Amino acid sequence: MQILDGKVTAKKIRQDLKQKIAELTKKPGLAVVIVGDNKASEQYVNMKKKACENTGIVSFSHVLGQKTTQNELIKLIDKLNNDDSVDGILVQLPLPEHINEDLILERIFPSKDVDGFHPVNVGKLLQNKPCFKSCTPFGIIKLLEEYNIEISGKRVAVLGRSNIVGKPMAIMLIHKNATVTVCHSKTTNIKEICRNSDIIISAIGKANFVKEDMVKEKAVIVDVGTNFINGKLCGDVDFENVINKVSYITPVPGGVGPMTIATLLYNTYEAYKINKGCV
Ligand code: NAP
Repeated sequence: MQILDGKVTAKKIRQDLKQKIAELTKKPGLAVVIVGDNKASEQYVNMKKKACENTGIVSFSHVLGQKTTQNELIKLIDKLNNDDSVDGILVQLPLPEHINEDLILERIFPSKDVDGFHPVNVGKLLQNKPCFKSCTPFGIIKLLEEYNIEISGKRVAVLGRSNIVGKPMAIMLIHKNATVTVCHSKTTNIKEICRNSDIIISAIGKANFVKEDMVKEKAVIVDVGTNFINGKLCGDVDFENVINKVSYITPVPGGVGPMTIATLLYNTYEAYKINKGCV
């Protein structure tokens, strides 16, 4: 069994970007917008900010109060869209209930949508055209590639069908010639589907969901879940019991999480190249 080390792989991506960015006179910029009081969101935003600074990307934080109106947020997005020093815009989700998330995400210029959530980018992804790809699934593809894990011709079970992880993951895998089964809360035979899969990608958000008897010998397991048991971070996979049966597995923490951030930085550098007319 081998660990798919997201920390090491993410560091390689960040170092490569750092070198490329060091050669630029004007640096790429990422605007991070956070609305309301959400401790978890604040932590994610701080991690992203620190990662930007370490890579040479300039980060602009916009921390807005819980009572910020939708119009105020739209005005800020418009301002960032038209600001040349901002190459990427990230609006941390979830937004407060009185703000329409779709409307805000669709307001971001697709050329600055480094999260890959804008319908234009999602549509292009579906058609396998160049676009910004959702950071978590894109990071997973990069991690599998780093370890030379064959995707073409493999049967893959994707657990979860969210717009952010499950659906884009399935599309990216199809483009890599995998045969994909997407499972969700109404799927009746998840165990059987998993047992017949060469690769399982779990993005459900339920601790210990993927158990040893759901996994076939030598399978590859990617654990996206972030759950807490007694304050301790864990994934969706019953890691201790599954570990001896599989060929590769991501740990939590240290697997998918660091890859998500590295991919965000990668997308920001790509946005810089597009916005500055380098591609
Ligand atoms: P989400 O929007 O809540 O979606 C969860 C998906 O899991 C839904 O499609 C849901 O099915 C499915 N599901 C829930 N319970 C199930 C069950 N018992 N059996 C089968 N399917 C079930 O979550 P998300 O945003 O995709 O995130 C998923 C997990 O990944 C969360 O733990 C999140 O924190 C984590 N995450 C981690 C990273 C990272 O960088 N490490 C990034 C993003 C997300 P329905 O559609 O039928 O409701």
